[in-house]
Amino acid sequence: MYRTLSGKEPAEAVLSEIKARVAKLSRSPKLVIVQVGEDPASTTYVNSKLKKAAAVGIDAELRKLPGHASEKELLSLVKALNKDKSVDGFIVQTPLPKQMDGKAILDAVDPSKDVDGWTSTSAGRLFSGLDCFEPATPAGVMRMLDFYKVPIEGKHVVVVGRSNTVGKPMAFMLLSRNATVTICHSKTPDLAGHTITADIIVAAVGKPGLITAGMVKEGASIVDVGTTKLGDKIAGDVDFENVIKKADCSPVPGGVGPLTVAMLMSNVVKAAERRGKS
Ligand code: NAP
Repeated sequence: MYRTLSGKEPAEAVLSEIKARVAKLSRSPKLVIVQVGEDPASTTYVNSKLKKAAAVGIDAELRKLPGHASEKELLSLVKALNKDKSVDGFIVQTPLPKQMDGKAILDAVDPSKDVDGWTSTSAGRLFSGLDCFEPATPAGVMRMLDFYKVPIEGKHVVVVGRSNTVGKPMAFMLLSRNATVTICHSKTPDLAGHTITADIIVAAVGKPGLITAGMVKEGASIVDVGTTKLGDKIAGDVDFENVIKKADCSPVPGGVGPLTVAMLMSNVVKAAERRGKS
């Protein structure tokens, strides 16, 4: 049997580092989460972020707008948060209601407060190898690989999924650590032909059971980012039960999820540390 790459232990390590960093600051870092509407999944994520922030000494506040709010109203809240000197970082919880242009909203966030790392400025800095707020999920995957001492340099990594928030930044972070990276997506013919050659697979799709044992090389490391609600359960993209007989694999839930929240908190503290120095 191969290793289960649990996210719990590496996330605890990140959170204890964060507590030590917070203790060195002259005041508590301040995070604001903006939520528009009452999407139940968003409410669950928001509550988990608020709880985790409180646990590490981050002062977190929720600002809610009704689901029928206009894009203009949200933009004016974003602009007010950009100006508010008491706020170190803020996030606009997605998905946003249909009447809003998500990209325009995200790009209105001041890059110095962009703790989600989703603005075009943050993406450009990441792709150029400059210091930036790294998007929390791919940053969490990197922490997981490092925690379990999975070699990255010179290895072939297949990233399945190419979203701006997960797949693309993931590929660039791996590239910056000298991996040879293949990015696959919904138009990739013969996905298995790519994954079977990979030393590491990062699956970030949202299709339960997409990655089967037959698509995985013996002894590889598989990180499952996917989360799909199936009834009252959450499923990943990987057929964990069978893949774990052939390769190290992260579970869902209990894999990348806890690390994502921890890395977001790390970005909030980074924002406060930077402001302390400026
Ligand atoms: P997304 O924006 O929907 O992107 C999904 C990607 O998967 C797209 O690039 C799509 O390709 C690709 N894809 C779809 N079907 C495919 C197939 N059959 N074969 C290969 N690629 C395929 O999703 P996302 O925001 O990146 O999130 C991906 C998954 O991770 C979701 O399940 C999400 O819930 C989960 N997630 C988890 C965490 C966490 O903390 N655990 C955080 C963020 C996201 P095209 O570009 O060609 O459409």
